[in-house]
Amino acid sequence: MKKKINMQFLIMSLTAILLTLGISVAVSYNVLKKEIMQNLKTCTHILMGTGVFDDMEHMEYNASKDNLRITLIGEDGKVEYDSDVDIAGMENHENRPEIEQAVKDGEGESIRTSETVGQSMFYYAVRLSDGRVFRVAKETGNLFSILAPSFPIAIVLAMFLAVLGAVLAHYLTKSIVTPIEQMANDMDHLESICTYKELKPFITTIQEQHDDIKKNADMRQEFTANVSHELKTPLTSISGYSELIENGMANDEDVVRFAGEIHQSANRLLTLINDIIRLSELDVSTEVILYENLDLYEMAVKCVSMLEMNAGKHDVTLKLVGKSTHLNANKEMMNELLYNLCDNAIRYNKKGGSVTVSVGETNDNVILSVEDTGIGIPDEHKNRVFERFYRVDKSRSKQTGGTGLGLAIVKHIVAQHHAKLELNSEIGVGTKISVLFPKKKEG
Ligand code: ADP
Repeated sequence: MKKKINMQFLIMSLTAILLTLGISVAVSYNVLKKEIMQNLKTCTHILMGTGVFDDMEHMEYNASKDNLRITLIGEDGKVEYDSDVDIAGMENHENRPEIEQAVKDGEGESIRTSETVGQSMFYYAVRLSDGRVFRVAKETGNLFSILAPSFPIAIVLAMFLAVLGAVLAHYLTKSIVTPIEQMANDMDHLESICTYKELKPFITTIQEQHDDIKKNADMRQEFTANVSHELKTPLTSISGYSELIENGMANDEDVVRFAGEIHQSANRLLTLINDIIRLSELDVSTEVILYENLDLYEMAVKCVSMLEMNAGKHDVTLKLVGKSTHLNANKEMMNELLYNLCDNAIRYNKKGGSVTVSVGETNDNVILSVEDTGIGIPDEHKNRVFERFYRVDKSRSKQTGGTGLGLAIVKHIVAQHHAKLELNSEIGVGTKISVLFPKKKEG
């Protein structure tokens, strides 16, 4: 980029120099032409005033000494006198442009360049009172050769300007490129380096992406650390119990108990791994998600009947309200959403409590809500329960088979469906989590 900008600056300055030179030569050439013609007119008027031409035949004035040629042309165009050439062989001059103009307007002028010698002839003609035309001509060398002495100065000047242009191009390029290079080298202080307001939106986007990447990397690292930690506990217990059995340190009764502990830890590992796999699937899913027309109420009926036994174990009553409500969504995800919300409502409930699942709709939304009469979530935890592995009461979560990932999966699914989550909860009274799905606008 640096080279390209430098090159463009150079081309620009060289073009400017050459154009200036060309225009100067053209202007000087025209000024010179006008000046010579003006001189010729002045000479003619002075000479006419002196009366030397009153009697041409016996004129004493030597025109060729002044580099002039004098011609007298009769009314019919026939040359009557010429100071340079023998008039006998001369053709009729009626059609010469300066003569034609003089006959018409009183005076005429013309410049003709001989292509062979490169000389320019300046003609000025005046109509006399008797109708004849008096013409004075001046021969000049090639006009460019007159300008030639100034060419070396112009060339030196152009070279000096070209060098100056190259130096300036180098510094200007540097001043444009340096902040960009600095920005590329130090992504953390973009704001303080950036001097171009046009680059600001670009910088903001880069900075946001940079922050996102950093945040994602931090999150991933934290997640990996959490996963390892979560896997460690059940594995340690499996390893410990099996070692005791292996070393014959457990009697028959213990073996059964230890086998039960191992079984429970293995189940816990399976649930954890299932949830972790599900979350990473949702994170990196490149598959096209299939959305279909579902009856959310019908799905809730199935979910409630599946969890009925589990609820009974916790001495919790399950209720379902609402009516058939259709929604465009992914079936598997909706099942997971319903299951996770209802399962939590049962697990964090009180003995003799209840869970109410309701499916309904407003003009803009299809609403699913799961309300319990359980332990509630303290205010300071409300914003964090949707984070991965975040639990209010770790031991209760673990006791009831929680992984700390259920609500993180819920949040993911809700975002995937462009829906909104609402959480209302009061300690000791209960919790209500609602999901508001947007209805497709018609037309
Ligand atoms: P877990 O597997 O531990 O239940 P979740 O992600 O489903 O993990 O929930 C995160 C935390 O939020 C839980 O540990 C619990 O403290 C709290 N929580 C979730 N649902 C409820 C609820 N209905 N009532 C009270 N607390 C809840």
